[in-house]
Amino acid sequence: MRYERQAIADMQGYSYGEQPETAGVIKLNTNENPYPPSPGVAEALNGFDVNILRRYPEATSRKFRIAAADLHGLTGEQIIATNGGDELLRLAVTTFVPSGGVMGGVVPGYSLYPVLAAVQNAHFLTSSLQADYLLSENIADEMNAKGAKLLLLVNPHAPSGSLTDVSVLDQIAERFDGVLLLDEAYVDFVDPGTEYNALKLLAKHENVLILRTLSKGYSLAGLRFAYGMGAPKLIQPMMDKTKDSYNLDALAQCLAERALSDQLYAQEIWSKVRAERTRLREALQNLGWHSPASEANFILARCPKTDDATAQSYFKALRERNILVRYFEAPDLADMLRITLGRPEENDALLSALADITTGM
Ligand SMILES: *Cc1c(COP(=O)(O)O)cnc(C)c1O
Repeated sequence: MRYERQAIADMQGYSYGEQPETAGVIKLNTNENPYPPSPGVAEALNGFDVNILRRYPEATSRKFRIAAADLHGLTGEQIIATNGGDELLRLAVTTFVPSGGVMGGVVPGYSLYPVLAAVQNAHFLTSSLQADYLLSENIADEMNAKGAKLLLLVNPHAPSGSLTDVSVLDQIAERFDGVLLLDEAYVDFVDPGTEYNALKLLAKHENVLILRTLSKGYSLAGLRFAYGMGAPKLIQPMMDKTKDSYNLDALAQCLAERALSDQLYAQEIWSKVRAERTRLREALQNLGWHSPASEANFILARCPKTDDATAQSYFKALRERNILVRYFEAPDLADMLRITLGRPEENDALLSALADITTGM
């Protein structure tokens, strides 16, 4: 006897990156930030009055929303705070995609999207990426033709790290008949020199929803805090109807607000990550591992072409040396490793391990 719905029985769950219990592991596999949360967060945690936990938390994380609105030049009604970006994605799916409906994205992309579609009994329509991970020019039309109500695009793209121009996103928003969710989980690592700013689309398009998370840029993956930005028309149904009544606990709200206010600290660690990105990409290239230009905190590197040195065997050999990176079984990614940027000494350890493994092959 089975009790779950047929769609749940038939679907595959999300496969998590490995979280080792042991110390001494160099963890470059789940795109976490290698630097600690801001000292202000530690201070807020130490000063937190436990009596606050006696009461239910503020249901909409009002203070955080106001702080985020100030930071981005928006109003509180344009922001929803969520339990990680993953909750916002789930809310977008349950709010905008009917059961049996269609939602879309690109392959390769974030592997949680098709999982959420399956839970909703929705069809996940994929658009193939062009060379260099560029979006198909007709993506909006492809989606409209099948009646997609939600299109999920991660920018900078995961797992390649490549960045799509705002002008391209602008045209997609214009042509697409449903909600365009721009998943900006990695946007904090974009080089300011690119002048990328998708927030300006919000003034122009009522169907654009932007996801931001504190997991990557603010070193708070363990806290579970993210937010969405968009027209009140998109935000209100999620905030008033589909989210859990108390989706964020009082401690998380307090710490998230503090992290967001420590902008100088955040910018400092983002620029350190960027410096390592340039350095590691060049060093990898010298070892024969080529990668597309990344604007994220990871690099997707292609294995040097030798007969028996497959990406998977490098992955295993690194693992034996206590260095974790991400290997994807998907056919279009099978000869690559996704490497999260670590601190300089961690990246150095990775480079010497790669050189060493190559020598031993
Ligand atoms: C990390 C990530 C998110 C959100 O992660 P949370 O920890 O749930 O905030 C969303 N999209 C992509 C592509 C990510 O990599």
